[in-house]
Amino acid sequence: MNNIKLSWYPYTLDLKHPFNISINSRTTTPAVLVEMEYKGMVGYGEASLPPYLKETQKSVQLFLRKMDFSSYDDKTDLSSILSGIDNLFPGSNAAKASIDIALHDLVGKIKGLPVYKMYEIPKREMFTSYTIGIDSTEMILHKLEEAENFNYIKVKLGTGDDRKIINTIRTATDKPIFADVNQGWKNREEALDLTIWLYENNVLLIEQPFHKSNLKDTAWLNERSPIPIIADEAVQRLSDLDKIKNAYSGINIKLMKSTGISEAYKMIIRARQLNLKIMLGCMTETSCAISAAAHLSSLADWVDLDGNILINNDLFDGVKATQGKIIPNDLPGLGIKKIF
Ligand code: MG
Repeated sequence: MNNIKLSWYPYTLDLKHPFNISINSRTTTPAVLVEMEYKGMVGYGEASLPPYLKETQKSVQLFLRKMDFSSYDDKTDLSSILSGIDNLFPGSNAAKASIDIALHDLVGKIKGLPVYKMYEIPKREMFTSYTIGIDSTEMILHKLEEAENFNYIKVKLGTGDDRKIINTIRTATDKPIFADVNQGWKNREEALDLTIWLYENNVLLIEQPFHKSNLKDTAWLNERSPIPIIADEAVQRLSDLDKIKNAYSGINIKLMKSTGISEAYKMIIRARQLNLKIMLGCMTETSCAISAAAHLSSLADWVDLDGNILINNDLFDGVKATQGKIIPNDLPGLGIKKIF
């Protein structure tokens, strides 16, 4: 058969610990896993669907049912296939990411190249942070033990107890910290006091301090902050960069927001032109989507790709930061193997 055959199945990611952030808490993440078969080869893809992004297993499956690759003569022409799909259907960023990731895996396998070589990205070992949610003192200390091999800690703030959380961490380690407020701060003067205090406590950056629509207070804080203020919820795709460029010092790029590898790469190029720093992040995901992101990791300033080590039921062997390091695999495509 001379067409791509697409199949998929819903899958529930089972989190090792309940994941608490300033706006919600959960113990699972819904996902949809995709298989793309062509000429005897299979590419794997994944849509991870944290509820706040509004896509569901049902909406992703409806999207996948509409996919038709028959009009593309060259099934390895990533840019025309992906832009064709993007132009046909609005939204559905994670669903598009599942197609983008599977197609990169497939094309890499057809060409015999790992994804990072397809983009001529240098291979470099990067250090990822280990994420600690909003937890009891006891659980924070337990998670810090789990993070023993990691050089960076990422911590969720925006609780009203932010100083207490950092003080707890500082009783156990002086490792540098990435602070993620998840839109939790309300008052800009208090935010500035806290930002300076965090800086004095070896916090390297602050992610999404205010509501994503509040560019005015964000710009005010960013002008005065001794450390970079990074956009996460405020940035999804390439077209968002110009809207936020004057309010932030950097962006957190995630494949599930960006519609996949192809646009994430374009966002990295554009962010550099705008003099914005780059964090490469993730949702809770299997080693499929984490390995996909790992191919871009050497282009980032900071890497937060620990989503696959926070779940109990990974389905793939791939890039896994058990020792705190991220380095892309040299096997063709994403460099992953299905293990169940
Ligand atoms: Mg974030």
